[in-house]
Amino acid sequence: MITTGLKIYLTFIFALTGAVMGSFLNCWAMRYARGERYPRGRSACPKCGHTLGPLELVPVFSWLFLRGRCRSCHERISVRYPLTELLGAALFAGTFLRFGLTAYTAEVCILTACLMLLSFIDYDTMLLPGAPMLAALVSWCAFLPTHADWRSRALHGALTALIAGAALLLISLLMDRILKKETLGGGDIKLLALAALYLGPWGTLLMVILSCLLGLVFAVCSKSKDHPFPFGPALAAATWIVVMWEDGVIEWYVGLF
Ligand SMILES: [Zn+2]
Repeated sequence: MITTGLKIYLTFIFALTGAVMGSFLNCWAMRYARGERYPRGRSACPKCGHTLGPLELVPVFSWLFLRGRCRSCHERISVRYPLTELLGAALFAGTFLRFGLTAYTAEVCILTACLMLLSFIDYDTMLLPGAPMLAALVSWCAFLPTHADWRSRALHGALTALIAGAALLLISLLMDRILKKETLGGGDIKLLALAALYLGPWGTLLMVILSCLLGLVFAVCSKSKDHPFPFGPALAAATWIVVMWEDGVIEWYVGLF
């Protein structure tokens, strides 16, 4: 049994870890967009190249303290930095609050990090690289023995991934034929299959519906004509939401009738 004090302390630790992770993944995505495959070397101001000191690397607070400007060249630092840090903090802390101090929390945190990286990269480049998906796949396998129902989880997950992947591939080939342009990328199909592995049949169905709704919301909110909003972030967000609240969403849905 965890006391309230310990719970608050652990929530803070998870939030801090998430913030650092968000910062790192955002940096990775931005470097990926510039053609570097993996982040290397110390963080620096993208405008003047000034290497960041330890006080400039504190998530969110550094940005607030410096009022969103580089300490060396006083150029504006994108609000994207503190936002991705806050996102990481919220998702990691939320995962801990939902699942407690369990192996499943660790599994969901790793999946969350992979989904965040995929979303950031997809947003910048319209690409969903294989490395983060492979990491999530390896993590799924590694955590399989920690599930009491690991046999059915493995069977349902693998079958759903196969069927969902094949179905989406078929639909996208058909749509490409009808609309005479590429509708869904190969990355989207791989990401859906990966999510299906984690979610099983019902969760995947829910995730598909939710990701279409979210995709619509993102597309309306972004409004930019020259930068079409990719589908990856909607898939990733829907996956995370279903992992967190599958039971709640199904109960709510069944309650409608
Ligand atoms: Zn600078």
